Amino acid sequence: MHNNIDTIKKIRKAIEFYRELGFVYMPVKKSRIAEILSPLASKPSEMKQHSGAGRTVNGQEALNLLRENIGDCQRCKLSGGRNTIVFGEGSPDAPLMFIGEGPGRDEDLQGRPFIGDAGKLLTKMIVKLGMKREDVYIANIVKCRPSYNRNPEEDEINSCSPFLLQQIEIIRPSVIVCLGKIATETLLGVKTPISKLRGNFLDFNGIPVMPTFHPAYLLRNPKAKWLTWDDMQKVMKRLT
Ligand code: SF4
Repeated sequence: MHNNIDTIKKIRKAIEFYRELGFVYMPVKKSRIAEILSPLASKPSEMKQHSGAGRTVNGQEALNLLRENIGDCQRCKLSGGRNTIVFGEGSPDAPLMFIGEGPGRDEDLQGRPFIGDAGKLLTKMIVKLGMKREDVYIANIVKCRPSYNRNPEEDEINSCSPFLLQQIEIIRPSVIVCLGKIATETLLGVKTPISKLRGNFLDFNGIPVMPTFHPAYLLRNPKAKWLTWDDMQKVMKRLT
């Protein structure tokens, strides 16, 4: 009897925990209950503090569960043209998070964000800043490739961006860099051109956000590279 009450208490705590992370339902199989409860049973040394309220969570577990929750997502029409869902990658403890617009052809084929030419430029920049790609977190506003690399449409952004918001909530980076117009507009809700916004920190739920040019734009306009480099110097200063 005592054990049952303990188990019910643990289940209730687990449900509250995942609800605070933004999950709206949990596809719980009996066989997975122990695994779902495991973040609450982890030793303090295995946990990471994510929230100002002092709640400790296992970031990788939460990201894995979010990915599982997305499943073989058909929530918007981008599902029809994709090969793979590009969830995002990097460290769940990343101090710095980059957010782009959506996967391109290479990303769609390999299931990883920013690995085409624009991604190579972003990776070069990260390395030049003295970090490794694995140290940061990289994600997009939409997780499936819009055909012909068109901009994602409003309904697609509305369907997909809650997943990104949950990733941000799990990772709680110290700084976010929005790469380009779509990421900046979606996260910050502003329509001001990126050329006017870049270079200054804005705020998203208490996290400083630096809007800057998308690497694909920098490939077409190499002269603007130094502006983004300048923005990244400000970001690095904020991180130290
Ligand atoms: S873009 Fe997002 S919401 Fe749309 S199908 Fe892909 S994962 Fe689902």
